[in-house]
Amino acid sequence: MDFTLSPEQEDLRQRVAKFVADEIMPVEADPASFDAHENIADEPLQILRAKARSAGLWAPQMPVARGGLGLNTVGMAMFYEEAGRSRFGPVCMNCAAPDDGNMILLERCGTEEQKDKWLQPIIDGTLRSSIIMTEPAPGAGSDPTAMLTTATPKGNGSWVIEGHKWFITGAEGAEHFILLARTSDEPRRNLTTFLFHRDDPGWEILRRIEIMGPEEHGGHCELKFDGLEIPDENRLMAVGEGMKAVQIRLGTARLTHCMRWLGMAKRAIEECLGYVETRKNFGMTLAEHEGVQWMLADAAMDIEIGRLMTMRAAAKLDTGDQARTEVSMAKIFVSELLHKAIATAIQLNGARGYSKDTPLEWMYRYAPQAKLVDGASEVHKMVIARDLLANGMDFWSWD
Ligand SMILES: Cc1cc2nc3c(=O)[nH]c(=O)nc-3n(C[C@H](O)[C@H](O)[C@H](O)COP(=O)(O)OP(=O)(O)OC[C@H]3O[C@@H](n4cnc5c(N)ncnc54)[C@H](O)[C@@H]3O)c2cc1C
Repeated sequence: MDFTLSPEQEDLRQRVAKFVADEIMPVEADPASFDAHENIADEPLQILRAKARSAGLWAPQMPVARGGLGLNTVGMAMFYEEAGRSRFGPVCMNCAAPDDGNMILLERCGTEEQKDKWLQPIIDGTLRSSIIMTEPAPGAGSDPTAMLTTATPKGNGSWVIEGHKWFITGAEGAEHFILLARTSDEPRRNLTTFLFHRDDPGWEILRRIEIMGPEEHGGHCELKFDGLEIPDENRLMAVGEGMKAVQIRLGTARLTHCMRWLGMAKRAIEECLGYVETRKNFGMTLAEHEGVQWMLADAAMDIEIGRLMTMRAAAKLDTGDQARTEVSMAKIFVSELLHKAIATAIQLNGARGYSKDTPLEWMYRYAPQAKLVDGASEVHKMVIARDLLANGMDFWSWD
């Protein structure tokens, strides 16, 4: 693999980095910029979104014809990592979860009419979206095929939804929803994907679940469906292709998480470099102590390995391959290095690292979700092991 960025990619990378440094970092540094849920408040968000659009740094994953930058997955890896330096970066450039993955799914699988209606406003940033899969026990969690929420055909050609969901990111505030529901008991083809609007009757938000970390806009909500009626024209893909939709969405969405988390892990290390280079003890700066150098080297090495794994999976996705094993390996490794890099940065900042004077404590509370969202690490290990058992030593073949 050649990791050289083209002149155009390098120019874009530098523009993202400059935008984050000049426009976003000063806003992030101001405590008044945060909302009650520890994310960027709406007013500064709208200002920065407008600036990002006019700077040509908007919706990098979407086609140019629809107002995006038309980047391939490798280009996205470069862009998202730079954007991820700030906690506000991805959402200001319209490449934050869950809109990011929802746009990718709708763009790949929607009809042109569905894209005009359901996708374009998300690209334009005029509304937000949510994806609804997970259910409380005994329903669907790690295993979507265990889904209990049902979509039952009604005589008039529409579907009626009954069920219970939770941890739906962004539901409070989203207008466009993508819903997975059971439409049959046929193994592997029991799920179907539907689209509905916030104002459609027959569903409600029971609560916004309080979590240990900062929240994405619209929180993580528990929902009840009691007779929501969805016309068949708002079915995404064929009946029974829900699992296929999940794989299409998550394949890239899991990797875009890794891209943003790499930016956050680098930022964590950035937050301790200045301190270790200036803080002196025992006759030298912290950075001159070999033990500190080992901690920094371990973090730097992990981040670099995570970047290589992410880039390799991205390059494979760009060939049309599903790259399931590569994406799973990257997701596990990057979620762990994120946690370790933040912990290292907290430790090397001493007492300061435990304070709210740096973004590190925010990141430390955010990081555990990386091992859960879009598949728990143990389930990704199951995917990797199945590939190894099926292919034996060919698991490590070159492409
Ligand atoms: C911050 C956050 C945001 C989320 N946003 C969304 C969203 O927008 N939409 C949505 O639909 N869902 C969302 N989720 C839910 C997320 O996708 C699920 O948490 C995840 O798929 C795991 O499902 P579960 O929580 O039901 O865990 P369970 O399936 O109950 O598993 C519990 C634990 O058991 C272990 N485990 C499970 N299966 C296996 C196995 N086969 N082998 C070994 N160990 C196993 C793992 O350690 C796992 O963490 C979100 C979750 C979080 C934390």
